[in-house]
Amino acid sequence: MDVQDAGGTLRVAVVGAGPAGIYVGETLLAQQEHPVRIDVYDRLPTPFGLLRYGVAPDHLKMKSLSRVLQRTLDDPRVRFVGNVDLGRDVTVSELRAHYHAVVYSFGSATDRRLGVPGEELPGSTSATRFVYWYCGHPDVPVDAFSLDASTAVVVGVGNVAVDVARILLRDVDELRRTDIPAPVLEVLAASRVTDVHVLGRRSPAAATWTHKELRELGELSGVEVLLSAPDVQAAGGDVTAVEPGRNMKILAEWCGRAPSGAHRRLHLHFWSRPVEIRGTDGVSSVAVERTALGEDGRVTGTGDVTDLPGDLVLRSVGYRGVAPPGVPFDEGRGVIPSVEGRVARDGEPAPGEYVCGWIGRGATGVLGTNRHHAHDVVPMLLADAPGLLARGCADGDLPAELSARGVAVVDKAGWAAIDAAEIARGGLDDRPRAKLATWEELVAAGTVAAGAAATT
Ligand code: NAP
Repeated sequence: MDVQDAGGTLRVAVVGAGPAGIYVGETLLAQQEHPVRIDVYDRLPTPFGLLRYGVAPDHLKMKSLSRVLQRTLDDPRVRFVGNVDLGRDVTVSELRAHYHAVVYSFGSATDRRLGVPGEELPGSTSATRFVYWYCGHPDVPVDAFSLDASTAVVVGVGNVAVDVARILLRDVDELRRTDIPAPVLEVLAASRVTDVHVLGRRSPAAATWTHKELRELGELSGVEVLLSAPDVQAAGGDVTAVEPGRNMKILAEWCGRAPSGAHRRLHLHFWSRPVEIRGTDGVSSVAVERTALGEDGRVTGTGDVTDLPGDLVLRSVGYRGVAPPGVPFDEGRGVIPSVEGRVARDGEPAPGEYVCGWIGRGATGVLGTNRHHAHDVVPMLLADAPGLLARGCADGDLPAELSARGVAVVDKAGWAAIDAAEIARGGLDDRPRAKLATWEELVAAGTVAAGAAATT
């Protein structure tokens, strides 16, 4: 790895190779004030974070953004340092010692809980886990779901809920040209799910899904959408509405559709929250309470509880950040506290450490939001740069030190090898790629180039 640089070069570590981190890299490369060298670390052996493991495989146009992000990685001033876990393989103090600036952009690693009895029953899990499964994330085995349930209940009415409902209901033949792992496709093909219930705890106008994603749900072949017309009609005066216009138009149109008798059904429920997940050995139903807006404008239970039969429950109620030791963390908000992009240590902005993306602002916004965030944060880093350069940093090459310590670092060549292997495998079935879906496969493919180099 060639990174030894002249004294005036700003050395930056970006932790998290998802869109937020890569946009930080892109923004740093585009500026003219300082020469830069950027090392983009990731816990995974692969870059692109939620673009690879969150964006639904059938959203091919969005997936193709990886080609744009790859251009930043291809720049000779940028290195990829994959398969390195901050906290396990490298410490925050090592990063701070070896770079003038460290940008944390590792997203929100976990999901929020419902906090209701029965949440731990087999058959009740997070939508995040389900998404990781169909995206071939190595943390979730390809046999994690069997889909022998007939009725699924999805809690939450954001875009993740829309994604999981769509994948559960979509005709599997329409998914065969995606990068969904082959064993997952087999499970989807054999799925017995006929009904998906989606629960929103407020009015339809307060749902956080976006209209483009919502509209797609009504266009699924062989799927009927069922919802309460009175709930939709009454939502006009909702003061908590998020995107009322276009979403409400779509929902109103669905209310007016004649029954189609389709063999799969999507049921949208509003003013409905789960108060218990019931069952003995596994989920058999969800106790759903009708809600209303309290005088304080917050949602409150009415005591009217009905039993909704269902054997798979996916909570889709948002993500939550997790921080490694050595980084300040706001437990309440699940983010690294910051002031205008600078990490706040003891409430004070700490030049030299920055945040971008969900770990800084919470799990909101679409991929492009991170580009704007990077454009806000990088100028702060550049404003601090003279002081950071004067402070200096250690000479050593940290990725090389990690390799010498036995960490199986996956670099750009390693990622290129993984990418090529996946594309070749996908080509056999006329698919854009077939993901390597286990840690072993990824690390083996990603370290072959390094191994070959070491033995020549
Ligand atoms: P989200 O938009 O924050 O939605 C979370 C949902 O969970 C809301 O409906 C929320 O209702 C509900 N909720 C929260 N706590 C609950 C509880 N205890 N009980 C019942 N319901 C509860 O989050 P998300 O869907 O996970 O998406 C995260 C971000 O990624 C969003 O910005 C989203 O747009 C983005 N994303 C975009 C795409 C895309 O562009 N295609 C795809 C996936 C994700 P309240 O509003 O009442 O709190």
